[in-house]
Amino acid sequence: MCIFCKIVGGEIPNKTVLENDNFLAFEDINPSAKVHVLIIPKAHYDSFDVTPPEIIGEMTSFVQDVASKLGVKESGYRIITNIGKHGGQEVPHLHFHLLAGEYVGRLVGQK
Ligand code: AMP
Repeated sequence: MCIFCKIVGGEIPNKTVLENDNFLAFEDINPSAKVHVLIIPKAHYDSFDVTPPEIIGEMTSFVQDVASKLGVKESGYRIITNIGKHGGQEVPHLHFHLLAGEYVGRLVGQK
């Protein structure tokens, strides 16, 4: 089972920002910005590349709700999803990084 499935199952603790039946948002353990939240579907998909479009569609409104909850809608934020080896993906479970709280002038995983 992947590490994010273990978080969904409660085997690994997390700092939850927002949750519903299908999605979970929690704080990144190694933040790249003042606000760094990971947003995942509870169901396992290896990456964005193999996720059904309807799941991405549902995630869109959840991401917007997370931004509201964090209070960053006005100041702005960045959404990133890394895909595969060259995309710098380390955890093979679809996740969007939400970066905010300051000007985020660089990319997650930049060398
Ligand atoms: P990626 O490189 O796009 O796969 O990003 C994986 C992210 O997961 C990294 O930013 C890690 O800091 C984060 N991460 C790994 N394990 C945990 C964990 N147990 N709780 C929260 N974030 C984690």
